[in-house]
Amino acid sequence: PEAPLLLVPSKSTVNGLPVLLYQTNHAGSRIMVSISDSHIRDALNMPLRGVAYSLLVGNRRLGQSGDVLTAAHSNNDVLTVKDVDYAFAIQFNAPPLFSLTRLFDQAGGVVLFLLLVSSLSAYLLQRYLSKDISPEESLRTAIYRNEIIPYYQPVVSGKEGTLRGVEVLARWKHPQSGFISPSSFIPLAEKTGLIIPLTQSLMRQAATQMNAISTLLPEGFHVGINFSASHIVASTFFEECLNYKRSFVQQDLNLVVEVTEREPLHVDEHLVKTLNGLHNKGFAIALDDFGTGYSGLSYLQDLHIDYIKIDQSFVARVNANEDSTLILDSVLELAKKLSIRIVAEGVETQEQLDYLMRNNITFLQGYFFYKPVPFKELIKILLSKPKVKVRVE
Ligand code: C2E
Ligand code: CA
Ligand code: CA
Repeated sequence: PEAPLLLVPSKSTVNGLPVLLYQTNHAGSRIMVSISDSHIRDALNMPLRGVAYSLLVGNRRLGQSGDVLTAAHSNNDVLTVKDVDYAFAIQFNAPPLFSLTRLFDQAGGVVLFLLLVSSLSAYLLQRYLSKDISPEESLRTAIYRNEIIPYYQPVVSGKEGTLRGVEVLARWKHPQSGFISPSSFIPLAEKTGLIIPLTQSLMRQAATQMNAISTLLPEGFHVGINFSASHIVASTFFEECLNYKRSFVQQDLNLVVEVTEREPLHVDEHLVKTLNGLHNKGFAIALDDFGTGYSGLSYLQDLHIDYIKIDQSFVARVNANEDSTLILDSVLELAKKLSIRIVAEGVETQEQLDYLMRNNITFLQGYFFYKPVPFKELIKILLSKPKVKVRVE
């Protein structure tokens, strides 16, 4: 035949092997080149899993094995790539992904399984993303991510207006909601027991920060931390406090343990032993929110209380009206009779200050002097004061 390219089956060749025949005319002669099937099969043998190639010339086909066959009618799943210069083509079966029918025929089970798995994971992912993480869970995460940070409210001496110390107040630096006030997460922390890791984290941070500015702090400078009753009664509390004290570079600071009276305080032998033990180890014990609790007063005689913190609700009532100080007068009198030093909280006005000064209350805390500030602000405040290292009484 005249065709330039021919696939010749084995039965037509001398050695009984199929060949590809190429023929061309040159200078009045015919040149014929035969290419052995093994060379062609080598070229067709591409290591692509599940795909079989064959060489197509006219209506004949040579696959990766066997003799030259008459090409079957190609169906949808067989793809053909034709050469532009020579009359041959490469045929190959479409990989399953190119053909849906083949995909389902050959791997129906797997497809179904994949569909189920992906729908399930999409559903779970959707639920996870939209699910409301419980407030407890987000608080727990916040504690371990150090998002609960200490703010410091200076305690001043009313007479000289000098700084006597600071109270550590927790703030939640929430990545989305900004700063969250402790009144909205301390009750949750107390209910869930997270108050212990929360307070421990604040103790660590406060000690680290105070150590960084130890040269600015006079001897006897107060550093107060609020402790919840559930933490104080924990068996580890006493040891934790001792470790906390040891972690300070400066050993002459006045570490204050603030115990709130707001929740009923079960004053039993264990509590008395713990708090008096800490007092003997050099801690100062402050009774917070004095006058608001229901704990009774008898324990004031069993406990070594160093300071009483007059609740801001009493201070807030003070105005020009004489009656406004009736309750506060008696609270102060009681504290004086017990010879316990007093810190007044929530001082906001000159009037309140005047009243407190008349009553010789010298430890004062309130917006009139300073709001709770972040550590950087505290440094600025300390730097703006003369750096005299005097003992704070
Ligand atoms: P607290 O111990 O009685 O702390 C004093 C609160 O009064 C602070 O509120 C302070 O910002 C606020 N305050 C100070 N001066 C003034 C003032 O002049 N006017 C008014 N209106 N308020 C003033 P804060 O920081 O919101 O804390 C609220 C309470 O949350 C604290 O009351 C304390 O009981 C509790 N708390 C804060 N941090 C901690 C903590 O680390 N542990 C525990 N257990 N409780 C904490
Ligand atoms: Ca307090
Ligand atoms: Ca208080």
